[in-house]
Amino acid sequence: MQKISLAAKYNGRKVVVVPTMGYLHAGHLSLIKKAGENGDLVVTTLFVNPTQFAPNEDFEAYPRDLERDSLMAEESGADILFYPAVDEMYPGGYNTNIRIKGISEKLEGEKRPTHFNGVATVVAKLFNATLPDIAVFGQKDYQQTLVVKQLVRDLNFPVQIIVSPTVREADGLAMSSRNTYLSPDLRSKAGIIFEALEAARMAVEDGERDRKIINAVMLKHLRSVAEIKVDYVCAVDASTLEEAPKFEPGQRIALLIAVYLGKTRLIDNALVTLPPAEFPPRKKRFVEGL
Ligand code: AMP
Repeated sequence: MQKISLAAKYNGRKVVVVPTMGYLHAGHLSLIKKAGENGDLVVTTLFVNPTQFAPNEDFEAYPRDLERDSLMAEESGADILFYPAVDEMYPGGYNTNIRIKGISEKLEGEKRPTHFNGVATVVAKLFNATLPDIAVFGQKDYQQTLVVKQLVRDLNFPVQIIVSPTVREADGLAMSSRNTYLSPDLRSKAGIIFEALEAARMAVEDGERDRKIINAVMLKHLRSVAEIKVDYVCAVDASTLEEAPKFEPGQRIALLIAVYLGKTRLIDNALVTLPPAEFPPRKKRFVEGL
């Protein structure tokens, strides 16, 4: 893989990587298409990474279909599908783990304490294997995009990170390989997650700035479905994921939701940018200017 990437770079081609865990859907394919628009050699990686799953999570059950994935990736413009085996990525004696503090300890990190260590480590390994100029990640996993950006900054990876918008089903449900776990009945109720995000986004756009009220709007929608158990909902600063009681003009807010629908854990998010501060009244500016 490294030889192929180095040869491409030597010939002046830009290498773009799209890391995935496979069982591809239209969300992944939009990332592969975006990769093709931004570079010359598109590498899709397919690796269900055991180290980002906790022992009680769905590593074994995670859906897999290499043949289908390779056809879909190729049709969407991937030049290479890189699918290492687990013991190639983590051979006997493997002993390194990247731990990112701060951003990866909040929210998803609090609920899944080893998850982002696994993500950061495998992303670093995939970057070293594929040597990309650019990597494309989905906004769907918003906190993951912040963790990857931190990794790139801290460890000097010469990789530009592109974040691509979330692709949704007709009822607004964010596409996910895990949606296949949902029974038809639960699937028909899953659109409420997007409705909750939309309601909160509209509340913010209508002027609501109180974090508790924004959260309550999301909770009200989610609680209308009995089978939903809320893991967390929050409205936080989009760069730091810090909770502030109120939001300031010009601030970018991330609305984040994690729920269990039956036994299936689903996450989704929306970003809202608050309008900038109005220009201060003329008289006040004059007095302050003195
Ligand atoms: P996964 O295979 O779930 O690890 O996802 C691989 C990449 O696809 C990650 O960067 C995800 O954020 C991205 N992705 C997953 N679902 C979607 C979606 N519905 N829309 C856009 N990107 C997505």
